[in-house]
Amino acid sequence: MTQVLIVGAGPTGLVLGIELLRRGVEIRLVEKGSAAFEGSRGKGVQPRTLEIFDLIGVAEDMVASSRLYPRFKLHAGPLGLPLFSIGSRHQATVDRPFPNMLMIPQWRTNEILLTRFTELGGRVEYDSALVGIAQSPEGVTAELATGETIKADYIVGCDGGRSTLRSLLGVEMFGTSLDSKTMVVADLEIEDLDREFWHVWPLNRTGPALLCPLPVSNLFQLASSSRIAEAGLEAGVRRTTGQRVTRVAWQSEYRHQTRMVDRYRVGRAFLSGDAAHIHPPSGAQGLNTSVQDAWNLGWKLAASIRTGDDGLLDTYQKERLPIAAAMLKLTGALHVNASLKRGDLTNHLSLGYPDSPLNVGEADDGLAPGDRIADRLLPDGSRLFDHLRHTGATQLVRRNSPHILIRPDAYVAEIGRREVASYFGEAVRKVEID
Ligand SMILES: Cc1cc2nc3c(=O)[nH]c(=O)nc-3n(C[C@H](O)[C@H](O)[C@H](O)COP(=O)(O)OP(=O)(O)OC[C@H]3O[C@@H](n4cnc5c(N)ncnc54)[C@H](O)[C@@H]3O)c2cc1C
Repeated sequence: MTQVLIVGAGPTGLVLGIELLRRGVEIRLVEKGSAAFEGSRGKGVQPRTLEIFDLIGVAEDMVASSRLYPRFKLHAGPLGLPLFSIGSRHQATVDRPFPNMLMIPQWRTNEILLTRFTELGGRVEYDSALVGIAQSPEGVTAELATGETIKADYIVGCDGGRSTLRSLLGVEMFGTSLDSKTMVVADLEIEDLDREFWHVWPLNRTGPALLCPLPVSNLFQLASSSRIAEAGLEAGVRRTTGQRVTRVAWQSEYRHQTRMVDRYRVGRAFLSGDAAHIHPPSGAQGLNTSVQDAWNLGWKLAASIRTGDDGLLDTYQKERLPIAAAMLKLTGALHVNASLKRGDLTNHLSLGYPDSPLNVGEADDGLAPGDRIADRLLPDGSRLFDHLRHTGATQLVRRNSPHILIRPDAYVAEIGRREVASYFGEAVRKVEID
């Protein structure tokens, strides 16, 4: 018997695993694949996700593996025209230590998360696909393709867009395909192409082809209609871009769609990440929204297991489903109009839980219950985030103003004057901030 069975070792499953292991929860993490994911797929990591990575101790490695988004360069025949970048170039400030979306190949994000997960004692069980599930009020029994059955208090499907757990639970995806094309995404070595720009060839018989230089490798990420590969990928790239491919490191296909479920929970089973919502790549939201699902669910699962307060788990859907819906609307719009301005919605810094049932108290001094808490410098010279790395809640004590209670996931829980000794069964840490 384990406490939580996590299905899928993508970014969602790994962040959930880290959050549960940090809190001493017994977990198993099963993965259908035979080895770690190898593709660059979700390469845009947003500022709020980087703050979360900071709080779980992996931001430094992420930043070291990243680059800023380059400018596009439009190619038409022999001409190359440098254009804008979809990324920003803001300076870091105290309240925005990670001001820009960074580009990190998804295999590297997974690798860094896996290292942290392993340091905490976690182990990914590869070649272990979930194939069946039964649940009762007491727990779940999961069946693996290996024939093994696993009993757990809870199961979380972090098993991606084609989620097996979602199908087994009979939960439907609602939404649309944004167009009928199948797209190809591939990591390619290209002979002598400059790595300063994100190269775009807009005018081809098979549609636009883009080659984006990736950090921590000599690879470019190709995005194009899959028709480019009709007579072989290398030949198609040569024909549409004039560039010579010297190695195909990874390739996959996908469709542009916006789809999501209407339920994140069925009894003791939860859906998280792409298993619950699928975004088109424009706007770089899928991985970011997914990681933040896991960040929201992790502390709640640990608290529920500790206290027996199962009702807390219902706030996961209440808080995360509206965010997925809003992000899908946004990515759908960005897909149609790629030049739309990105800002505090796409970077997730302005997202919070204003309607959460966990909110207590009134807004004060520009901060309201449900808001993301921004980093700040404290009178003793420390950073607020340094005080939020523990696993419980934190009360910011102010002499002449109401105290601010920060949830374990760094959103404001309560603004008020009362002393709070514990939050969902875990001692509250106090920090004087004036
Ligand atoms: C071309 C492209 C570009 C993108 N760009 C961005 C971007 O810039 N920024 C961004 O935020 N997002 C982007 N995304 C989306 C991002 O890749 C996904 O949102 C992200 O991978 C979701 O993570 P996940 O952990 O939920 O699912 P996944 O990464 O899909 O992981 C799911 C895991 O579950 C495993 N699994 C599946 N079924 C089973 C089973 N039955 N049993 C056990 N294990 C199972 C799979 O093998 C896999 O390892 C992009 C996607 C594409 C296709």
